[in-house]
Amino acid sequence: MNPDFIIIGGGIIGLATALRLANEGARVTVVERNRISTESSWAGGGILSPLMPWQYSAAVTDLCNQGAALYPEWIASIQAASGLDAEYWDCGMLVLSPFDTGTAFDWCRQHQWPAKTVAASYYLPDQSDDEALWLPEVAQVRNPRLIKALRGAVLARGVKLQENMPITALSANRQHIEHIDTADGKLQAGNYIVCAGAWSQGLLSNYPPTKTIKPIRGQMLLFKTDPGLLNQIIYRQGTYLIPRKDGHILVGSTIEDVGFDKSTLPETGKMLMNIAFEILPALRSATLVQHWSGLRPGSPDNVPTIARHPDIDNLYINAGHFRYGVTMAPISAKLIYEIILGQAPDLDMSPYQWDSEI
Ligand SMILES: Cc1cc2nc3c(=O)[nH]c(=O)nc-3n(C[C@H](O)[C@H](O)[C@H](O)COP(=O)(O)OP(=O)(O)OC[C@H]3O[C@@H](n4cnc5c(N)ncnc54)[C@H](O)[C@@H]3O)c2cc1C
Repeated sequence: MNPDFIIIGGGIIGLATALRLANEGARVTVVERNRISTESSWAGGGILSPLMPWQYSAAVTDLCNQGAALYPEWIASIQAASGLDAEYWDCGMLVLSPFDTGTAFDWCRQHQWPAKTVAASYYLPDQSDDEALWLPEVAQVRNPRLIKALRGAVLARGVKLQENMPITALSANRQHIEHIDTADGKLQAGNYIVCAGAWSQGLLSNYPPTKTIKPIRGQMLLFKTDPGLLNQIIYRQGTYLIPRKDGHILVGSTIEDVGFDKSTLPETGKMLMNIAFEILPALRSATLVQHWSGLRPGSPDNVPTIARHPDIDNLYINAGHFRYGVTMAPISAKLIYEIILGQAPDLDMSPYQWDSEI
């Protein structure tokens, strides 16, 4: 293995990839346009599961299930290396109706997920006795803290971080990237891995086949309540509530195809707030702390690209994780590492190819 990598993008995918390579003895530099991490990986919710898992293709299920399974050990190693707590919490998720009980149970049985129906009022006293689906093994991580811990862990492993350094171009000679351009000059490495989230497609526009990765905005609200008010993730018809152990509760999110626009709209905030109040009326007396948005790296059917470029021997991509990049991070890092080594991953990689039709 050429031990020399530049990773473009310091979100969760770039940092997870850097950590994996550095753990195996590689020399790694992460180049980040801003600070680490101000984009989707900071803005997201940190649920370690698809929201209605039975609605996704095998390509998404495989990455999410394998990613979630790696989490406890992955988090423990990041926390040990960084000394920081990422607040992993196996708090479970309650899905409120409507949902198709038969389809949900078939899927859970097939994937060996524990699941049972309960009255919604069992966990949410203000709700009716309508049937809800309890998924006890769904976990969460406090993603902004995970990013901080990951930053600490990669530094502890000797990764070089170059923040506030936008990459403006990748320069190739025949089928080989020779260097990348930054405002401060050229940077060179043996291999280049694009982990630039929603910005990946723009960076790779000169290197066909072009990927379809585009920004999809999600707006979020953050409330502060007393710790213990809510102890499970709640999902209802596109909206979720995520409790943190210190009493913060996140409410999300929207799916908006509006380009690279991170504005927040008061009417959208109000809409999310009203749904949240219906689900958990006690939130009405809570403090609204923040309203923000993030740009997910949207890809067709939520399927990321984790691959070597078909023609350029030292160019890789690990991007396009759309709604589930936090969940998929550890497995995506493992897979790209195996691809770099020329090992055959223990997973059908055809959906994640650079030139895949998906
Ligand atoms: C509202 C919301 C809720 C979400 N909830 C969840 C959830 O509950 N569970 C889950 O699993 N996922 C969730 N996600 C999705 C998840 O956050 C993303 O899939 C994941 O963060 C993508 O990580 P990334 O590293 O690819 O992208 P990013 O975090 O966006 O990182 C890409 C980085 O590349 C940098 N970059 C871009 N261009 C350049 C350049 N030219 N030069 C140098 N650096 C560059 C950017 O500055 C950025 O830091 C959510 C996302 C949002 C927005």
